[in-house]
Amino acid sequence: MAFHFKLTKGAAKGPRTGTLNTPHGAVSTPAFMPVATRGMLRGISPTQIRPLGGEIVLGNAFHLAARPGVETVRAIGGLHNFLGWDGPVLTDSGGFQVFSLKAADRIHDAGVRVEHPVQGGLIDWTPELAFQTQAALGPDIAMVLDVCPANPKNQDEVALAVKRTLSWAGIQANLHEARGAADSGQALFGIVQGGTLSDLREECAAGLLRLGFDGFAVGGVSVGEGHEAMMTGLDLSVRWLPPEKIRYLMGVGTPLDLIEAVARGIDIFDCVFPTRSGRFGTALTWGGRLNLLNSQFKEDAAPIDPDCPCEACRSTVPRGALRAGFQAKELLPPILVSTHNLHFVLDLMSRMRIAIAKGDFEALRTQIRAAYPAGKRLLS
Ligand SMILES: [Zn+2]
Repeated sequence: MAFHFKLTKGAAKGPRTGTLNTPHGAVSTPAFMPVATRGMLRGISPTQIRPLGGEIVLGNAFHLAARPGVETVRAIGGLHNFLGWDGPVLTDSGGFQVFSLKAADRIHDAGVRVEHPVQGGLIDWTPELAFQTQAALGPDIAMVLDVCPANPKNQDEVALAVKRTLSWAGIQANLHEARGAADSGQALFGIVQGGTLSDLREECAAGLLRLGFDGFAVGGVSVGEGHEAMMTGLDLSVRWLPPEKIRYLMGVGTPLDLIEAVARGIDIFDCVFPTRSGRFGTALTWGGRLNLLNSQFKEDAAPIDPDCPCEACRSTVPRGALRAGFQAKELLPPILVSTHNLHFVLDLMSRMRIAIAKGDFEALRTQIRAAYPAGKRLLS
């Protein structure tokens, strides 16, 4: 099956549902992608992904190229085999991760000079290398290497990031075309940068549209600028994107951010938030978040969420036991709470799809806004 996105409800503005077809199967959107940066989900087996409601998984080309290396992944039969997952896979080019490695002063016109995350020493991560690495790894969807500015409000910094993002996008669009574009079995998405600056978001989106991509991501909105600025960057980007192409918001995964982004027409997401927060003892529930380390749970005999049908809640391990286990640094509590949180986020996506189809999305949005108000810290 070739790459194809079909909207089933909705249009350019507002929440929408669709089906993303890939060579490894279909994904119902809006969808959330569990994150396997280095080829493994943290504490979660690939056999659990479908029962939890996941249909597509994300890996990171930069980290996989560093360890175990592209040749090793190929020797194991490609990225799907390496992941132990036969469904759709998207890889990030590593742009965001490269920048979070504090390489901002090492970006140049041809790429970014970055420390090798395993061996140390500096390597040049270029648009050509990011493209070729993903072509060799074999995900269903590859992402362009882009430039994510550290300060989304700094005009000069954001303008330079957009200039380089467009220049690099051109190089990668040409390489994609030369491989046969999506007919090669791999789609390529462009990434809109531009911080919170209206004209730069427009310039970046327009430049990417001229180059032509199989889908579009909105980048640079999850760099610690807060919910409101994130939604501003999103609004400034989505308005320029063609309705028939899939839209991906990178690195976003709190319940409030997910539902507000879907309300603005985003189709797919990825984020380490559900599993990372679970590892630190924060459980996501329909009533809001629970910090299981709080003393109020010391003698609590209920499971993580008594109303939740997930494997972790059905295990009936009580909150009080999880709290004691977290304190004793046991392995099981982070796994159980991560599993539950991933189920919660995937269930939220499923409920959004149903609500959009039925036309009562706003009721679900109100419920999430009440349980996860903006400005409230999700980790303590
Ligand atoms: Zn659960």
